[in-house]
Amino acid sequence: MPSPTDRANPKVLIVGGGLAGLCCARQLNAQGIDSQVLESSDRAGGRVQTDELDGFLLDRGFQVLLTAYPECQQVLDYEALQLCRFEPGALVRYRGKFHRLADPWRQPRYLLTTTFSPLATLADKLRVARLKRQVCQGDLSGLAQRPETTTLARLQACGFSEQFMETFFRPFLGGVFLERDLQTSSRKFDLLFRMFAQGDAVLPARGMGALVDQLVDSLPAGTVRTGARVAKVMEDRVQLTCGEVCHASRVVIATPPGVTRQLVGQSAVGMDAAHGVTCLYFAAERPPLSEPVLVLNGEGKGPIINLSVPSQVAPAYAPPGESLVSVSVLGTVEAEREAGLQRQVVEQLTEWFGSQVNDWRHLKTYRIPYALPSQDPPALSPVEKPIHLPGNLFACGDYLDTGSIQGSIQGAMVSGRRAGQAVATSL
Ligand SMILES: Cc1cc2nc3c(=O)[nH]c(=O)nc-3n(C[C@H](O)[C@H](O)[C@H](O)COP(=O)(O)OP(=O)(O)OC[C@H]3O[C@@H](n4cnc5c(N)ncnc54)[C@H](O)[C@@H]3O)c2cc1C
Repeated sequence: MPSPTDRANPKVLIVGGGLAGLCCARQLNAQGIDSQVLESSDRAGGRVQTDELDGFLLDRGFQVLLTAYPECQQVLDYEALQLCRFEPGALVRYRGKFHRLADPWRQPRYLLTTTFSPLATLADKLRVARLKRQVCQGDLSGLAQRPETTTLARLQACGFSEQFMETFFRPFLGGVFLERDLQTSSRKFDLLFRMFAQGDAVLPARGMGALVDQLVDSLPAGTVRTGARVAKVMEDRVQLTCGEVCHASRVVIATPPGVTRQLVGQSAVGMDAAHGVTCLYFAAERPPLSEPVLVLNGEGKGPIINLSVPSQVAPAYAPPGESLVSVSVLGTVEAEREAGLQRQVVEQLTEWFGSQVNDWRHLKTYRIPYALPSQDPPALSPVEKPIHLPGNLFACGDYLDTGSIQGSIQGAMVSGRRAGQAVATSL
């Protein structure tokens, strides 16, 4: 194990303290190599953060952990995170009503409602079962190498009805990929569909930021230095915006691709194209839903793509006697149009839940322009993108790892581990 004093002159500098950077540090530490993470903001976590506001826990954008993610199973202590699960399936808002779409294999008590649901034909349900069997066969890396097309083309080739596509797949996957056109690579769809089929969608009891806290706590004290924005990267040193220069034998850049390119002037480290999302949080005196389930907008109109009540899933998301409502809208608007968007959202919520919405209190809106890297085909080919840049430079981040789900918690963590292993080998 490296001693704490080595940290003044770490062997490896990691630029960026998101999941990828932290997992890179974790891997290096496991191999006895000292590293320092330089994070520009005031805390680690990058796109996975939880803020506390008036006793509410607000994740910076609605996101979930899928318990089947293999890397998370290896790295995270699920028990300590006290994972709280969403009910499988969804409630779909369609033609002025909520319709339950349950997974009849996992929720037999809803077999009848699902069988007579107006959203899907019996043939659609059988196609879902077949698709599930297909994606659960073989290992994950084999799945990631199957022929690549768009998710839309993949689902159309399965023969799903237009009705099921519009009322379920578009809003469900729209909220996962953060785009409704389903142009995201079919490989990502296959990998994620398998994760949904094989595990649960969960929230840690104290918010998604708990994942990050657990990773940081597993590193030697002082590994993560916050408030350290890197301005320039060279092969054996980096320069911070304050002018300070830090030296190391290897430098790993764990920032989004646009920043990575600015820092090293590389053109081959991935695309800038990204999908954004806006997340609005409201406090409600009583929960608008009686169970921990995801609500999808199957009506094809209005700004909302999905809604959930995180405090129904994990009670600590709201103070006693209150509920937290999370609403996601695809894309982002400029600050001056935010009030207009909020009005439209409240109108739609009132249509869905009636006059109780008048009593809801808007807590906060998060605008996240870079939420997920765009993954249109052939984004996921080759399956593993190079992480060794010229010389002593390495890169990691969710945009780089494709075999294990690009643009996800799993992908970011695998990419960090791979970079750590590559650095260790090079040393
Ligand atoms: C709203 C939203 C919903 C999501 N939903 C899900 C989901 O449900 N399930 C799922 O699996 N994934 C989801 N994701 C994706 C997942 O969160 C990301 O894939 C993952 O967190 C990316 O981690 P990363 O380390 O690659 O990048 P980042 O988290 O972006 O980390 C990069 C870090 O670099 C730092 N940095 C940038 N520039 C500099 C600089 N010059 N100097 C120093 N540091 C710098 C940043 O501050 C940041 O901390 C979602 C993401 C968002 C935003």
